[in-house]
Amino acid sequence: MTAPELRIRFLGGLGEIGRNAALISVDGQGVLVDFGVMFPKADMPGVDLVLPQLEALDDVELLGVFITHGHEDHIGGLPFLLARRHVPIWGSRTTLGFVRHRLDEYALGESELVALDDTGVVELGSFRVEAIPVTHSIPGALAYAVQTPAGLVLHTGDFKVDHTPLDGRHMGLARIAALGTNPGVRVLLSDSTNAEEEGWSPSEQMVGPALFDLFARFRDARITVACFSSHLHRIQQVAQLARAHGRRLALLGRSLQRNVSLGLELGLLDRDLFAHQVDAREVRERDPAQVCVLATGSQGERMAALHQLAFDPQRWFAVADHDVVVFSSDVIPGNESAVNLLVNQFTRLGATVVTSPRERVHVSGHAMREELALIVELARPEYFVPVHGEHRHLAAHAELARRTGVVRRGVILARDGAELVVGDDEAWLEETPWGEYLYVDGVVGDVSRGVLRERRDLSEEGVVVVSVTVSRDGRVIGEPQLTSVGWVHDERGDALLEEVCAVLLDALRAGPLADDDALRELIRQQVRLVIRERTKRRPLVVPMVTRVDGR
Ligand SMILES: [Zn+2]
Ligand SMILES: [Zn+2]
Repeated sequence: MTAPELRIRFLGGLGEIGRNAALISVDGQGVLVDFGVMFPKADMPGVDLVLPQLEALDDVELLGVFITHGHEDHIGGLPFLLARRHVPIWGSRTTLGFVRHRLDEYALGESELVALDDTGVVELGSFRVEAIPVTHSIPGALAYAVQTPAGLVLHTGDFKVDHTPLDGRHMGLARIAALGTNPGVRVLLSDSTNAEEEGWSPSEQMVGPALFDLFARFRDARITVACFSSHLHRIQQVAQLARAHGRRLALLGRSLQRNVSLGLELGLLDRDLFAHQVDAREVRERDPAQVCVLATGSQGERMAALHQLAFDPQRWFAVADHDVVVFSSDVIPGNESAVNLLVNQFTRLGATVVTSPRERVHVSGHAMREELALIVELARPEYFVPVHGEHRHLAAHAELARRTGVVRRGVILARDGAELVVGDDEAWLEETPWGEYLYVDGVVGDVSRGVLRERRDLSEEGVVVVSVTVSRDGRVIGEPQLTSVGWVHDERGDALLEEVCAVLLDALRAGPLADDDALRELIRQQVRLVIRERTKRRPLVVPMVTRVDGR
């Protein structure tokens, strides 16, 4: 008898960092692992968020969503998923705390959130999902072993192998090894973010001494540490140092305050350390040597605290030469210029800026090559698929997995939208339309690709509005009126518009003017043609036709 086919749809995160989501299904029933968002890239003007395609879930009975950890690229899409269908969500208590914050912002009403402990098991339909603890840059991260009627899928989620974790919660390496032997792993999906980095990622504990050095070196300075607001272990370390050096903490940014409350509530942060805070607005009145500021926005996000601190001296305090600003984070690919802007601005204001990796004020939360190879070796999967990374990271991880020599059947390089089908003795990829981006602009699916293209043209090439008046019987009345935005404002621009106007008028007099759509298309073509010939630009052309009862 042949076993049913195991199918895994990769809805995001393969080929880019963000919007991680994988649908694991057998016989039309499935579970999702994560449902994240991606933040828009520079070529997506006006887009708030990018989601995995929701249509990909329509033909499967979705039994539940298993969240690996509380980072946005793993949970950010949940409000949009839940707005569409009711489905229970599992995760660690910590992860669900972050999920609840996210859901509360969207007022979705009752959602079914079910907490799993570190060795929790859930039976759902023909699936049995087991949690495995992993270490990462946020507490409470889990990997999942999804046992299906067609074999076991092991999804690592984001992880690093930290042998000296701050909270003493170790990664379940022994459990992964046990699963690798019995029942054996059919498919291993593993985090590729650092697949190009040699060696072993340093423990989170390594950051403490580096920060301690800074506090000792800059005894008289006001120290501001910027990090991810979800990195509760880092926050705890900074708070410990602040107290050890007689400094009071000030928390800048709403997400930081909210996450610290969550951390206290869950017992992840030490209450004593956060008992005596300074209000952010009182920092300016304090002796710089007696405060330590924690801020969000280390990626240069425009709305975040660090950006405001850099550019708005009225908001909290004015950064000056007695300030030290520590970026306790890596730059996520794509954020380089935004971060650089901040570093330059703080430097301009006279502050000393400390960044990683020049000083070890940050360690990555993602496994490097030795750790990645270890996981492949312990799991000894039939098939290996690298996930969570840009194409180069996936390719490096695939190559590494091949080199371990323990992947029994094959290493498969998939990308967004692909569906992996695992049959009795072979596996293959099927193309689907579900790799496409789903853009969120206030409302789900508000923005089509056409709209995006228009916005891009608008921002890069400018816009020309052409209004033409024609009589009901199709004759042009007067001259076309051309207005341009984002265009050269001098005689050359005016001369060009006049030339366009003349060419257009000729075409209008010759062409069929009965149908409005045809008329608009004619205007668009003619105007574009002349402008492109003269300037090599391709502005957005907006034709406006008015029909009047003319002579
Ligand atoms: Zn991630
Ligand atoms: Zn993560």
